[in-house]
Amino acid sequence: MITVEQAVQIISNNVDKTTISREINVSDALNDVLFDDVISPINMPPFRQSAMDGYALNLHAPAVYSIIGEVKAGDDFHPILKTGEAVRIFTGAPVPDAANAVIMQEKVKVDGSVLKLMFSVNVNDNVRSLGEQAMKGEIALKKGTKLNPASIAFLTTLGITKVKVYKKPEIAIVVTGNELAKAGEALQYGQIYESNAVMLRVALKQLGYGKVSVHKVEDNYENTFQLLNNVIEQHDVVLVSGGISVGDYDFVGKALNELSVQELFYKVKQKPGKPLFFGKKEENVIFALPGNPAAALSCFYMYVLSALELLSGNMNFSLNRTKALSNSDYIKRGDRAQFLKAIYDNGNVEILDGQSSSMLHTFALSNALVYLSETAESITKNDEVEVILLPIN
Ligand code: AMP
Ligand code: MG
Repeated sequence: MITVEQAVQIISNNVDKTTISREINVSDALNDVLFDDVISPINMPPFRQSAMDGYALNLHAPAVYSIIGEVKAGDDFHPILKTGEAVRIFTGAPVPDAANAVIMQEKVKVDGSVLKLMFSVNVNDNVRSLGEQAMKGEIALKKGTKLNPASIAFLTTLGITKVKVYKKPEIAIVVTGNELAKAGEALQYGQIYESNAVMLRVALKQLGYGKVSVHKVEDNYENTFQLLNNVIEQHDVVLVSGGISVGDYDFVGKALNELSVQELFYKVKQKPGKPLFFGKKEENVIFALPGNPAAALSCFYMYVLSALELLSGNMNFSLNRTKALSNSDYIKRGDRAQFLKAIYDNGNVEILDGQSSSMLHTFALSNALVYLSETAESITKNDEVEVILLPIN
């Protein structure tokens, strides 16, 4: 059995970014990763811009100026200022060429067309210089940047409408289990409602992975083999739920083996999620997650997500971690590392009751996982613990 750290390392050693790119609208590129450097086609700002409502001045020693006109945002007006002259100007308006500073209107006294400075002004005060955010022909954003609302807006300010991004993986979710019924239908005795496919699909969607298909198979070797054969061929990533333990009706491991999926690890010294499988068939990535829902979701956040980000070109991904003081005592049993469902709040963390790998209710209340390494001891209230913040808000 390998450690959590080894599992993380094996994933990063074996998953590489896709070589496939696609061109998309900037406005559709949220969470996509730039395939190339983006070169700015313009200077931003495209002209010297006033950062204030006030007066643009052609500075000179005495503090009295004559106001010769007005420039507001959007004006195509280029008054020629002689020394000692000023124009009324507003935020975002082009600063006349001969003006070398803008003074806030609160810092002057104006009487008719005569302006008196009440405070000193320095050259370039309140003037946004040409290209201070981006210079034409230079790199505006580097390849590998994951686009967020601000970066999408920034590219748009440069007039860019299309970007080349890494293709996002196409993902299949395969749920196994004779006991699974569909929510909305009547439950027969012995059945439970299927939730892992729903959970994984929405988790993927929240994180920007929308190309997902869902497949179901009963606990039957032949059908499991056939289905996995098809989906592995047709998808970049396959997430299997359940059937990977050692029960007599767990057929996923055998099927993956028969399909010549290269096993990169199976079983991680952790709780929950010990029976986690990671493998590859050619470039296609396969995770078999435990069927227990809370274990499946822990494994998704701790392992699957980093693989997806690597595949999508994001080499800088990691979940946010922090230290916090525990509000709870917790007795650690056994020698596995543990991911404990918890509520983090402003430097404190509460480890919840109900840590069993089936307990979705506990996970539903959580916003974080407390991580206890293999060698960690039990926790006493006010101990400092390591917290992994879930990417759910
Ligand atoms: P397994 O890993 O197949 O042995 O399943 C472990 C536990 O998780 C069992 O109690 C299953 O009923 C439950 N389980 C498996 N798959 C799902 C699923 N898709 N949705 C909800 N519970 C599941
Ligand atoms: Mg099962």
